[in-house]
Amino acid sequence: MSLIEQWIRPEVRAIKAYHVADASGLIKLDAMENPHAWPDDLREQWARLIRDTDVNRYPDPHARQLTQQLRSAMQIPASAGVLLGNGSDEIIQMLALALGGEGRTLLSVEPGFVMYRMIAAFSGLDYVGVELNADDFSLDMEALLEAIDEHQPALLFLAYPNNPTGNLFAVSDVERIIAASPGLVIIDEAYAPFTDASFMPRIGEFDNMVVMRTLSKMGLAGLRLGLLAGGEEWISEIDKTRLPYNINVLTQLSATLALSHIAVFDRQTLKIREARLQLFRELQEMPGITPFQSEANFILVRTAEGEASALFEGLKHQGILIKILHGSHPLLKNCLRITVGTEAENRAFVEALKMLLPGTSFQPKI
Ligand SMILES: *Cc1c(COP(=O)(O)O)cnc(C)c1O
Repeated sequence: MSLIEQWIRPEVRAIKAYHVADASGLIKLDAMENPHAWPDDLREQWARLIRDTDVNRYPDPHARQLTQQLRSAMQIPASAGVLLGNGSDEIIQMLALALGGEGRTLLSVEPGFVMYRMIAAFSGLDYVGVELNADDFSLDMEALLEAIDEHQPALLFLAYPNNPTGNLFAVSDVERIIAASPGLVIIDEAYAPFTDASFMPRIGEFDNMVVMRTLSKMGLAGLRLGLLAGGEEWISEIDKTRLPYNINVLTQLSATLALSHIAVFDRQTLKIREARLQLFRELQEMPGITPFQSEANFILVRTAEGEASALFEGLKHQGILIKILHGSHPLLKNCLRITVGTEAENRAFVEALKMLLPGTSFQPKI
């Protein structure tokens, strides 16, 4: 037995590392980033702030100013507690540390956000993934209630809207799940900027529900900042697993500045919502392509049987990177996911896709 086999935990060795595709030189429609840059005046202010910032000191361990900005920008109920993470991925890890342990279960739905399963695996939680309904990716309530009853999950994650399917689950279904769950239900609202639906205002209504948000999809993916809002008692216990100073000085000052200009980002996310509608309509017109309704900043599409891989490669050959989901889960057979980009990027994508689809006159060699 090698040293690695002897000492690296088997559940860690069994995990496939989270793969990020190389996007150099490509139009990036793969990772749900906001494609719009900061306006020049905001950049100038930012540069001045950074010039005057000392990094020889530790950051504010509680990021007080930033937390205040987040409370107001995200309309977090005043009675709720808030903790911050280095991306919401780090918060999933904190939750696993605080509520995990031998013999405990993390439950979510499939296809869903892959980090729930990965973090469960490397933190030693049992993972249970309940399949969504195949036709519209809604919650399979019978299967879910049965799984909750059988596994008594300590943690239950629902992304709302869901990634990679883009849909919102029915509010009444989510309410039933919260009521039926013995443990903590985390509503992951990573895509909140692109929908009007939210459980944030309802935090006080349930004693086992918290809401997770991130600034990544709104336009600050590079800063790595997420938050968890919920009952004070939950939050202060979970916060004990947070490493001190997890939100660095540059993130604190940059996000605080960005949030004090929230209108800039509201305009950008509104533009993305409008572009999503336009892109959806164009996809609907294409032969062999079925787009699914989305409340997020991406659109899931199903291609004709056996076409997903060729279309993905063909687009890449033409300089456009999207995400191929075919092969990642049986319900995502023949599926691709396209992040909504700028108008110009979406047009380039639509033109490239049209040329690749069978039945069009021009077939480029790939
Ligand atoms: C992108 C995403 C996250 C992670 O966001 P970070 O804050 O960048 O770590 C969490 N949940 C869902 C559903 C996501 O799609």
